[in-house]
Amino acid sequence: MSSPSKLYEESGKLKLSVRPGKQLEKLSKEALEDPDKFWAEQARNLVWFEEWDKVLDWNPPFAKWFAGGKLNASVNCLDRHINTDTKNKAAIIWEAENGETRTLTYLQLYYQVNKFANVLKDLGVKKGDRVTIYLPMVPELPIAMLACARIGAIHSVVFSGFSAQALTDRANDAQSKVIITADGGMRKGRLVELKKVVDESTGSVPSVEHVIVLRRAGNKVEMGPKDLWWHELMENAKAYCPPEPVESTHPLYILYTSGTTGKPKGVMHGTGGYLTHLYSTAKWVFDFSKQDVFFCTADIGWVTGHSYIVYAPLMHGVTEIMYEGAPDFPKPDRYWAIVEKHGATILYTTPTALRMYMKYGDSIPNSFDLSSLRLLGTVGEPINPEVWMWYFKTIGKENCPIIDTWWQTETGGIMLSMCTCIETIPMKPGSATFPVPGVDAAVVDEEGKPVAPGTKGYIVVRKPWPGMLLTLWGDDEKYKQVYWSRFAGTYYPGDYALVDHDGYLWLLGRADDVLKVAGHRLGTMELESAFVSHKAIAEAAVASKPDATKGESIIAFLVPKEGFEKSEQLRKEVVAHIRSTLGPIATPDDVYFVSKLPKTRSGKIMRRLLKSIASGGQIGDITTLEDGAAIDEVKQAYEDLKKAVRP
Ligand code: ATP
Ligand code: MG
Repeated sequence: MSSPSKLYEESGKLKLSVRPGKQLEKLSKEALEDPDKFWAEQARNLVWFEEWDKVLDWNPPFAKWFAGGKLNASVNCLDRHINTDTKNKAAIIWEAENGETRTLTYLQLYYQVNKFANVLKDLGVKKGDRVTIYLPMVPELPIAMLACARIGAIHSVVFSGFSAQALTDRANDAQSKVIITADGGMRKGRLVELKKVVDESTGSVPSVEHVIVLRRAGNKVEMGPKDLWWHELMENAKAYCPPEPVESTHPLYILYTSGTTGKPKGVMHGTGGYLTHLYSTAKWVFDFSKQDVFFCTADIGWVTGHSYIVYAPLMHGVTEIMYEGAPDFPKPDRYWAIVEKHGATILYTTPTALRMYMKYGDSIPNSFDLSSLRLLGTVGEPINPEVWMWYFKTIGKENCPIIDTWWQTETGGIMLSMCTCIETIPMKPGSATFPVPGVDAAVVDEEGKPVAPGTKGYIVVRKPWPGMLLTLWGDDEKYKQVYWSRFAGTYYPGDYALVDHDGYLWLLGRADDVLKVAGHRLGTMELESAFVSHKAIAEAAVASKPDATKGESIIAFLVPKEGFEKSEQLRKEVVAHIRSTLGPIATPDDVYFVSKLPKTRSGKIMRRLLKSIASGGQIGDITTLEDGAAIDEVKQAYEDLKKAVRP
């Protein structure tokens, strides 16, 4: 398999239960013609205390979905199941990196959430107050989130790999009243001392009144005057907490984006619209059924974990796997071992994790029974066609459709994806296919006019959708400027895309990552995929540096697969491969072989840092991007870059 375009031609051969795309077309047409009717029908899948007066109150760019309606997110995830057969079904099967497991049924989860909601209430947390959650990937993390939702408090989950500075910035920005943390978390066999990080931080966050500490690792921690033990508070809490009926537009949470492109933004999501979007997309895309065991590998610190570990699967009453740990520790087999052990039917993961596994070859996944899988999903970055094929063949054994889901923290839920519940359409490796029903996406040029098929442009969303962010926390102006000013009245996600001649959408990377070489605009995605399609290359990141004649020249950072030497010979081969697949214009000026690439903790390549390194500029502030442990990794990556073999 070689270039993206070749794969694209070959993709016609991938025959699944292919039916024509008529169903999706019909549903999408209905949804766009009468969005109020369509979304009202979807919203009726939720449990409401009071129905809305108006489906959409649109005061551009501010949307009030299901205005006048009242509901509660924890009721939709838990109470709705506890008088049904789902009550005693496993909600969360948790696994640690040492193989330890814990299972919570829906009833057990309900009980814990109610008690913890009372804990928060007893501490004086009220509707609208912010609670920062800085916990490892343990069941108490969703418990704390749902407990906040139960009393109408706004949670702000901060990824447990972030440093004290990042935590301080986020807790201060949100003006949190309470921080919830643990004595420690485990990552790659090492104790991560979360409580210490919180101690460093709380002095600088005057709004914090209490710190709740979960005993998780069993190590000794200092307990100060604001600190309270989770288990002691839970002992005294009552078993039932009446849910707070909140307005549909009441903020459910704030979540800071990963910072791939700059300073993180406090994305704020509401309740009724957000949950409607999640309920519907989970149904359409994953086609959840009672038998499903859903394994989403995201960290709850990112939006994928919020939407598709916490809220969507629980609303649907499916059993899900929650994994605490790295994909490659103690061995590069963790996801496959977990699929086999718990019989996962759906795996939802990232291109970065897949590329990591691919590097180690097929024998590891082949040594596990992966036959329980029926559907494979990807999210987070464009998936290189080569990686897509590997996922399809080696993991799915050519039996599982792949859903490539494009969306953002800001969109709340999936925006583009094949909808397997509606119909399975012919797949094209690397294409996120079509918008989900009700989402009006298009690809436009600089002036905002739709581009011809096959032409690169910007993806935009022309109509409001229920999962859309309410605003950026405390900064309506920035919300308008970042998302709604590029093209008037249209949402601007900041990604490049194209529509092909069959109407399929292809995401081509971030609009600010594009390279301009001798007047040609080259997408990072296209270039990186071409590098990764060489048999010796596991991962690639491209960036540019200023060039006197060409404007910019291409530099490539490549991670060779296991068993391939970093050599002059390999460099020549790779350059020749690029020239033959993409043409001489794409010839890189510099090729560096490295052992790893600098990434955000959500696994995305930090190209802007590579660019700074290459152009000898300032590296800039990385403390907001990386946690203590990852900072070391990034520093190491810089060292690697300096020492890189540069034949
Ligand atoms: P920041 O906005 O702070 O730079 P981020 O954009 O990485 O961080 P997320 O909201 O987690 O934070 O990621 C959304 C982005 O991830 C999208 O805008 C897109 O660039 C990329 N993305 C997500 N899913 C896909 C996909 N299936 N195909 C292509 N790109 C994807
Ligand atoms: Mg973004």
